[in-house]
Amino acid sequence: MTSAEPPHSERPHTLLTRARAKHAAAPLGPVLGASGLGPYRGYAEMLDQIEALASRGFRLHVIGRSVEGEPLLALHYGAEPRGSLARTTVVLSGVHPMEWIGVESHLRLLQRLVGSELGERSVVAIPVVNPDGVRRVEGRLRALRLSQVRANFVRHNARGVDLNRNFDARWGRLGLVQRLLGGLFDPGSGAASEPEVVALAHHLAACRVDRAISLHSFGGAVLFPSAWSTRPVHDEGEHRAWALRLARAIDPQRPYVAAACARWAKGIVAGGLELDWFHERHGAVSLLVECSRGGRGLTPTRLLSPFAWFNPPNVDREAEAIASAIAPFVRGDAA
Ligand SMILES: [Zn+2]
Repeated sequence: MTSAEPPHSERPHTLLTRARAKHAAAPLGPVLGASGLGPYRGYAEMLDQIEALASRGFRLHVIGRSVEGEPLLALHYGAEPRGSLARTTVVLSGVHPMEWIGVESHLRLLQRLVGSELGERSVVAIPVVNPDGVRRVEGRLRALRLSQVRANFVRHNARGVDLNRNFDARWGRLGLVQRLLGGLFDPGSGAASEPEVVALAHHLAACRVDRAISLHSFGGAVLFPSAWSTRPVHDEGEHRAWALRLARAIDPQRPYVAAACARWAKGIVAGGLELDWFHERHGAVSLLVECSRGGRGLTPTRLLSPFAWFNPPNVDREAEAIASAIAPFVRGDAA
C-alpha cells in the first residue's frame, strides 16, 4: 500500500462485511422472476459474490467511498498492478446503475479467471462503480410500481451526475442532442467532480493500464474511441480488430456491431467517458460493450419497466456468452 492510499483501505474485508450486513435482503431473483425480469442478483448478493472471489485468489481493495458512503470495491488478480511494470487490464461495470447484465457478465468473467495463470499481467476489476445508483434501482425493483416509469429510470449517482460523462477526458463536450436532454447526461460540476470517478482514477494512477473494458447495456455493440469526435484515433486499427473479434464471439449467429463510439451513436458525441479516458490518459486499448440487445419479447409489464429495456431475461445465457467472449482480451491474449 502506498502512503497516498486512503486509510480505510487497510481493512477492506471489514468494510465489505459491514456493507453486506447493512444491505442484507431476501434474494432478488424470485421477486423479479414473477415479473419476467430475469433472475438478477441484488446489491447484497453482488457483495456476496465479490467476497467469494476474494477468498479464491482475488485480492480485495476498498478504493474509496461513494457519495452515500458505500465502499467502492476493487478486486486484483495476477501480478501486483500498483507501482509495478505489470501490464494491467481494467474491467468496469455498473457505471450506469441500471445496466445489470454488465455486472452479471463481469462477475462470471471473474469466476472464469479463478485458477488461471496470467503470467506478468494483472487484472483490476471494479464490478459496481456506482453502488448508490444500483441500490436505488434495487429499491425501485422491490417496490415494483410500474406506473412510475420515470422514477424507475435511474442513470446517475446520488448527486444526479452521469458518471460516464464525468471522467477527465474532453470533459464537458456535449453534442446538441445531449444538451437538449439536459439532466439525463449531467456531466457534473467539473472533470472528475464525483467521488466514484476520483477513486477510480486515483487507484489506477500507479498502474500500467494497457487494456480496459467497460460493460454497459444495451444495444448489441462493441465500441472503441473516440466518443467525443468522429475522427479516427491513431490506433483505430488495433481497436477495430479487437472490437470485431469480440462482436463475433459474443453472438456468432448475429454479431454485435463493432464501431467507433461517436460514429455508432450518431448525434451523441460526448466527452467525459471512461472509454476515452482509458485511451487518452493511459494509452490503453479501450472498449465499451453494450451488452445484449434488450427490448426483445417485451410484454406489457416489461414495457413499463425501464430495467427490462436494459437487461435481458435470460441472464445466464447472455452473461456467459459475454464473459467467455471477452476473457481473451482481459487475460492479455495476443490480438
Ligand atoms: Zn451505459
